[in-house]
Amino acid sequence: MMKWFFLCVLMVCRLASWADPILIGMHCQSNYLRCGISPVEGNYQVLGDDKVLFTVSTGQTADITAISGKVNIFYAGKNHSGFRKITWKTENHGEFKAQPAAQKPSNRIYQGDLLAFSINGHLQLVNRIDIEDYVAGVIEAESGAGSELEYYKVQAVISRTYALNNRTRHLDSNYEICDGTHCQVYHGKPRKEPLAEEAAKATEDIVIVDHEINLITAAFHSNCGGHTVNAEVAWSKPVPYLIGRCDTFCVSMPHSHWEKRLPAEKWNSYIKQKRGSGDLASLSDGGILGECNPMYCHDSTLQIPRRAMRTDLKLRSTQFDIEHTSGEVIFKGRGFGHGVGLCQEGAMRMSKLGYSYKDIIHFYYTDVHLIQRRMLLFFKD
Ligand SMILES: [Zn+2]
Ligand SMILES: [Zn+2]
Repeated sequence: MMKWFFLCVLMVCRLASWADPILIGMHCQSNYLRCGISPVEGNYQVLGDDKVLFTVSTGQTADITAISGKVNIFYAGKNHSGFRKITWKTENHGEFKAQPAAQKPSNRIYQGDLLAFSINGHLQLVNRIDIEDYVAGVIEAESGAGSELEYYKVQAVISRTYALNNRTRHLDSNYEICDGTHCQVYHGKPRKEPLAEEAAKATEDIVIVDHEINLITAAFHSNCGGHTVNAEVAWSKPVPYLIGRCDTFCVSMPHSHWEKRLPAEKWNSYIKQKRGSGDLASLSDGGILGECNPMYCHDSTLQIPRRAMRTDLKLRSTQFDIEHTSGEVIFKGRGFGHGVGLCQEGAMRMSKLGYSYKDIIHFYYTDVHLIQRRMLLFFKD
């Protein structure tokens, strides 16, 4: 009897996860007042607030505008105005294009529903989409095309975990996650890499949790330069599963080494500015700041955190040595990014060598578990 009960609960949770859409803010890095919307697959029922207005079929276009805090829609020669929200509801797995006015033609295709609002004097579009379709889109936008299926599976699990763990990041907006680098880059349905959809399907519902069965902060970066770093090195606070470790997989990859040259005058004015800033520097002269420990570069009178130097001088990573020549200062560095968590180029190499996505995730995140998302409900109850 209990066995059947457990099975039924599992099935209900399974259905719940299928029906769980996520709200993604579209074009979050640009402002516009008008956008043309065209279904490219299926019909869309259009609602102004809760009232059904009309249906738009494949190939037809309607214009949405934001004016004085309200959204309006112009379709088939008629203007429907004064709504708080306009909803485009797909009738059967529809897809649409959204072309903001005065912007270069977009070839992005979005799945699911569209919501439109007028916010802070501009039009805000929101894509209401099944989380698995969203994950496939993020895989291509974040990882590009041409990698192994196992690598895309890694990205699928990381992106799903991130999205579910950050649903309150934009609490004051009409959406949960934005489509820019602030959250995860998302440009709609994958167009170049068919393995992106395959990877999302193959890992459907799988997420990464820590030893207390909480979704992890699945941090990743481009290349660690041969050793990932503890979370506290980059962000001040230790995290038990974000522990630095030796990584030989990425050292022959494109971003494992870098060099940046700075004219001596620029360097001198930078140091002068730092010496004058008081909090980081003493005011005396002397030294060429050639000594670096894991956290700081220093001489006898001044020390600058590596993290500050990376931001100030636009360096690829905090792992670098400094060489002084007569006319310039040369930074010789390793890696690209903050170095915490999963190293993308190392993971790519591991997938080429035949490691599974599970092996790769366990290599970069310490003492974590991969579980079906619906199991979170059982562990948390
Ligand atoms: Zn965001
Ligand atoms: Zn690495």
